[in-house]
Amino acid sequence: MDNCLFCKIAAQQIPATVVYEDDELLAFKDINPAAPVHLLIIPKRHISTLSDVQPEDTVVLGKMLALAPQLAAEHGVSVQHDADGTPRRGYKTLINSGPDGGQVVYHLHMHVYGGPRPWKGMH
Ligand code: AMP
Ligand code: ZN
Repeated sequence: MDNCLFCKIAAQQIPATVVYEDDELLAFKDINPAAPVHLLIIPKRHISTLSDVQPEDTVVLGKMLALAPQLAAEHGVSVQHDADGTPRRGYKTLINSGPDGGQVVYHLHMHVYGGPRPWKGMH
């Protein structure tokens, strides 16, 4: 997709701090982090918003979701369970869709936020 920032990052035409890459997905650090860990997971193939997802995209959507806990673990923000099962730490996953959803970059992406709170603008 011409003139799409995240397509350009996927094509390595614009630099990013890449934390994961495979044939279908790319993950990189958000340039303006709102939390101690703030990553973005994108499909390499251009999909503009969650509302533009087609039935054939469900596999890549599942892979995006499955990658989040893997990256959270690699960045030290996994959910940990105490001996009695009480959960500790953790992370937030978020997809903004359209202007009312707060989407600014129109290439589907999932935010992964983690680390000690409070986070910038989030509770
Ligand atoms: P959204 O509001 O969900 O569209 O989020 C877009 C995100 O992309 C924001 O958190 C920005 O900080 C981030 N962002 C914008 N440009 C870049 C870039 N060149 N590299 C990494 N992250 C970026
Ligand atoms: Zn794109």
